[in-house]
Amino acid sequence: MAAHSFGIYPRNDPEQELRLKRFFLGIAAYLMNSVFVLVCWRMGYFSTTIVTRYAALMVTLNLMFYCIIRSGLNKRLADPSLTFPQMAAATLVVFNLMYFSGDARNTYLVLLLSMLLFGLFRFKTRDFAYLALFILCGYTVLIALLLRQRPDDVVLKVEILQWMALLVTLAQFTFLAGYIGRLRHKVHVNNQELAKRNMELEVALQRISDMAIRDELTGVYNRRYLMERIAEEAQRCLRNGSVFCICMVDIDLFKQINDTYGHPAGDAVLRSVAATVAGSMRQTDFFGRIGGEEFVMVLTDTLSEGALITAERTRKKVERLTFPDIGAELRVTISIGIAEHVRRTEPAATFKKADDALYRAKESGRNRCVVEQAGHQHDSLSA
Ligand code: GH3
Ligand code: MG
Ligand code: MG
Repeated sequence: MAAHSFGIYPRNDPEQELRLKRFFLGIAAYLMNSVFVLVCWRMGYFSTTIVTRYAALMVTLNLMFYCIIRSGLNKRLADPSLTFPQMAAATLVVFNLMYFSGDARNTYLVLLLSMLLFGLFRFKTRDFAYLALFILCGYTVLIALLLRQRPDDVVLKVEILQWMALLVTLAQFTFLAGYIGRLRHKVHVNNQELAKRNMELEVALQRISDMAIRDELTGVYNRRYLMERIAEEAQRCLRNGSVFCICMVDIDLFKQINDTYGHPAGDAVLRSVAATVAGSMRQTDFFGRIGGEEFVMVLTDTLSEGALITAERTRKKVERLTFPDIGAELRVTISIGIAEHVRRTEPAATFKKADDALYRAKESGRNRCVVEQAGHQHDSLSA
């Protein structure tokens, strides 16, 4: 299997990909430059040898930079983006052309400055200043060389003026680079601050939406949310005939627990029972506290027979709970009243039936589950 196919960009390395994308932008600048080289060649400024040498230099340099970045060698360097060496190399290529371009030399100076504009947004101010200095020195060397070797190509008065203009332009660019650098820094800081605020807002929002639907003491759903969900479930039942059961869960003799161990202990029992019941249901079921020591389980797509099995399992789990922090002897039991929702009836009617069933469970001795259906009752006595 050919698992390794070569890609222009490295996989799973967005930083390197960005560097290579910038590299290709540089290639576009070279290609634009090449148009001018070809025009100069057609006009007789450059010999074919010079054009060929330019092409060879361009290809070699860019291949070299591409290989360094694509292989990841650049990551070992202080500035892995290689922006400075790439700009410096491009500058040298342009100087080489300027050397041969006679009275068309300024064309390339203009192109060089336009290329430098990109650096304005990319460089740190200090690096930009170095590059400006590099260009100014390079230009000075170029003119000195021309004065020595091709004096016919140089009008000294004009060159002095041009050199001064280049100095002023580069100084202004550097000043601008500093200004843009500071702006960039400000935007960066602001963005970070904004991202932090967004995070905080998201957390706060999550807390608020949790508070809106959760019971503060136990963390299970609150009454309002339960009622909404039950109304939805009743609608679903009406539309597509799905069934569901409402199970009213009430802690037995909870008042005694409060009286014996104190209110905080009672709260701990509430939390523990809530967590136990919540953990004994299916993902699609839902559960919440409707007040005091009363809870409701809603078992979706479940007939009363199935609900009784779930309720019994839950009842037994609670019965087995121990509370070593409160009292070794403390045991807690629950009674559950179960009612199956009947299509085209109000959820309130189902609540009433579940409540009646719960009353029956309490009446017949607590710690048990009772199913109430239209007309008849079915009890499951505790073992
Ligand atoms: P039964 O078996 O008949 O349900 O008896 P019970 O004692 O559980 O029922 P009752 O309704 O008489 O008592 C409920 C108690 O629940 C009374 C109240 O003080 C207590 N209670 C209600 N809300 C809270 C709460 O948030 N925390 C605590 N610790 N107790 C609560
Ligand atoms: Mg009660
Ligand atoms: Mg009770």
